[in-house]
Amino acid sequence: MSAEPLLSVHEVTSGYGETQVLRDLSLTVDGGEIVSLVGRNGAGKTTTLRSIMGILTPTSGRITYRGEDISALDATETAKKGLALVPEERQIFPELTVRENLELADYGGSPDVDSLSVGEALEMFENLQARASNAGSSLSGGEQQMLAIGRALVGGADLILLDEPTEGLAPYIVQDVMDIITELNERGITVLLVEQNVHVCLDLADRNYVINQGEVVYEGTSESLRADEEVLDKYLGVT
Ligand code: ATP
Repeated sequence: MSAEPLLSVHEVTSGYGETQVLRDLSLTVDGGEIVSLVGRNGAGKTTTLRSIMGILTPTSGRITYRGEDISALDATETAKKGLALVPEERQIFPELTVRENLELADYGGSPDVDSLSVGEALEMFENLQARASNAGSSLSGGEQQMLAIGRALVGGADLILLDEPTEGLAPYIVQDVMDIITELNERGITVLLVEQNVHVCLDLADRNYVINQGEVVYEGTSESLRADEEVLDKYLGVT
C-alpha cells in the first residue's frame, strides 16, 4: 500500500444548484481496498459518487486520483483516468445483446490497468456467457448488475464506484454479486461501494465511512463498526 491514497476526497462541498448536499466531506481509498460508504436514504451517498466521477462539480474542496487533481474533470475525463461509476439503475443498453453491450464499453481506460477483453469478461461472468447473444433487457436484475460491472472492466477501470449493487436483488443473487465484488478486488480492482445494506458492507469492506446528512460521521474497519452499537443504531437503524 503506497503512502498516498489512490483516491482522496478532501473537504468537498457539492450538491444540486442551490441545494447543498455534501458538507466538507473527506474520505480516502487506498489502492487494492474495498471501502464502503454507508448511510440512510438521502444521506448523500450517490451525490458523493457523482462528485468523484465528475457528473457533479464540487463547489469547494479537492478530489485527487493518483495524486492528480480531478475535481474539475467531467465524467468522460475521469473515465479515461480509470474511474468507472456503476449507477443504481445500471445503465446498460436494453436493445443490444450482452456481447454488444460489452463491445461498446471497449474504449480504453487507464493505461495503468489491463482492461478485460470482451471474451475475458464473458468468461468471468458465467451467467453472461450463456446469454451473450440475448438482449440486455432479457437479463435479471443480478445479471444486469454483472453486465454493468463487466462493462466497467472492459472499459479499463481500476477504481469502480458501485452504487447500491445489491438494491432490489433476491438474497441468493445478493451473494453472487458480493462474490463478484470480491473477485474483482482479488484481480486488483479497487472498489468504493455505496450501500444502504450495512451487512453487505461489513462482509466485504476493509474500511467503512458512515455518512449522515452529507457528512462523514464515522470511519472504521468492519470489525470496529460491527462492534459499535451506537453508530449502527443511530445512523444505520440496525439494533
Ligand atoms: P438514496 O439511497 O436515496 O440514493 P443517497 O444517500 O444516495 O440516498 P443522494 O441521492 O445523494 O442520497 O441524495 C442526497 C440528497 O440530495 C437528498 O436529499 C436528495 O433529495 C437530494 N437530491 C438528489 N438528487 C437531486 C437532484 N437531482 N436535485 C436536487 N436534489 C437532489
